[in-house]
Amino acid sequence: MIVAKFGGTSVGDTAAIERTASIVRGRLPRRPVVVVSALAGTTNALLDFAARSAAGQFIDALRGVEALRERHLAVVTELLGSGSDAAEVAADVSVLFDELAHLGEALSVLGDLSPRSVDAVAAYGERLSSPIVAAAFAQRGIPAVWVDARKVMITDAEYGKAQPQSASIAEAARRHVLPLLHEGKVPVLGGYIGATTEGVTTTLGRGGSDYSAALFGAALDAEAIEIWTDVDGMLTADPRVIPAARLIEHIRFDEAAELASFGAKVLHPSTIAPAVQRSIPVFIFNSHRPEAAGTRITADAPRLSVRAVAGRGNVVLVNVKSSAMLGTPGVVRGIFSVFERFKLSVDAIATSEVSVSVTIDADVRLDAVLTELRAFGEVTVTRGQGTVAIVGAGLGDHTPTMARALAALGELRVHLCALSASAINLTLIVDGDQVHEAMRRLHRAFFEEAA
Ligand code: ADP
Ligand code: ASP
Ligand code: MG
Repeated sequence: MIVAKFGGTSVGDTAAIERTASIVRGRLPRRPVVVVSALAGTTNALLDFAARSAAGQFIDALRGVEALRERHLAVVTELLGSGSDAAEVAADVSVLFDELAHLGEALSVLGDLSPRSVDAVAAYGERLSSPIVAAAFAQRGIPAVWVDARKVMITDAEYGKAQPQSASIAEAARRHVLPLLHEGKVPVLGGYIGATTEGVTTTLGRGGSDYSAALFGAALDAEAIEIWTDVDGMLTADPRVIPAARLIEHIRFDEAAELASFGAKVLHPSTIAPAVQRSIPVFIFNSHRPEAAGTRITADAPRLSVRAVAGRGNVVLVNVKSSAMLGTPGVVRGIFSVFERFKLSVDAIATSEVSVSVTIDADVRLDAVLTELRAFGEVTVTRGQGTVAIVGAGLGDHTPTMARALAALGELRVHLCALSASAINLTLIVDGDQVHEAMRRLHRAFFEEAA
């Protein structure tokens, strides 16, 4: 069997869902389990609804939700016509929107928004899209059955970025999904959403449907995980920044994971781990051009010094400087334990005898972290930074690559540079407003100019 995940734009409207149905029909012999995102733009709209409701703008917020209701109901009518099936799905959709409105009202009374409430609201996107898609499939001759993903995606209670519990997921998948496959059915589940063992709704973090697909794939021992999106595959850079970006036909797991965590939004950064554990190849395909080759992600693509370039903003550079570090073991450990305690993941690191520089993503917990770091020395913080990374499994094999990268950046200021001997990733910290320019220069040097 395979897992096929369709992102927001692949289920964004009636035409997109029709295309998705024909892709799934073509894959019936491979026994697909289908994972879908919310209709494009829905999660953003829901988060906005939650924030506004809690901020006392409930009436305004409700208008946004009514627009979402109209949009979903229009898709139901366009896809399913006006028979009894359509009426049933439309009624279910309406019930979900009524619940949402009540939730918003409760938030506005409370005037407070906890991570748990945010997840409850955000989850409606996939709770709505998945039964609509399942019904559309069924009406088009695909033996689809909707499965509530929250019965299968069991997570801890870290709302907003819940950690999946693999053993419980495997067991739930055997109970709720496998029997359907054995009956020749096509299970359809929402991505991104899950629930704790107590049944409280959680989410895996933005873009998390890719991760859901990989986790379901690992739980069911899929022979492939397919990520269907709006670009031809993983490219040598984000095509929105670099239109000349080229398709990568084959890439290694570790390279894809690095690219994802350094800004290649086409894949959620956690997607690769479950696939690696089970050696399941991951494919990225374009749902607008299903015949195109796509990208294959496996353990063994040929080693290249540079496979692709990625970048992202919103990075904070923290520097801790203290002469007490000189010859004193354990100071660095102390500094990192502060980040660990606040569960903040450190990305790039550079050290000297008397200072440690690290980058982290901008985060609300930062101020508290800084207070604790001051115990170790003088702390300076530069917000609004960006990361650019060049990624390639053979990066460390090829000395001139680093010189070429720095030369390509020319006069752009580099605040931190990290590369280790075994690295597959050269990370450069630049000013946030220079990220795109840095990506363009690096891409030009490595992919657009003759080597
Ligand atoms: P989906 O809704 O299908 O999950 P996303 O918007 O999350 O789609 O991811 C697809 C987008 O990722 C593309 O439209 C593209 O702009 C962006 N992207 C960023 N980096 C890359 C890259 N290296 N290769 C392909 N796409 C990329
Ligand atoms: N709908 C969720 C989001 O927009 C999850 C996803 O699309 O992967 O973040
Ligand atoms: Mg995505």
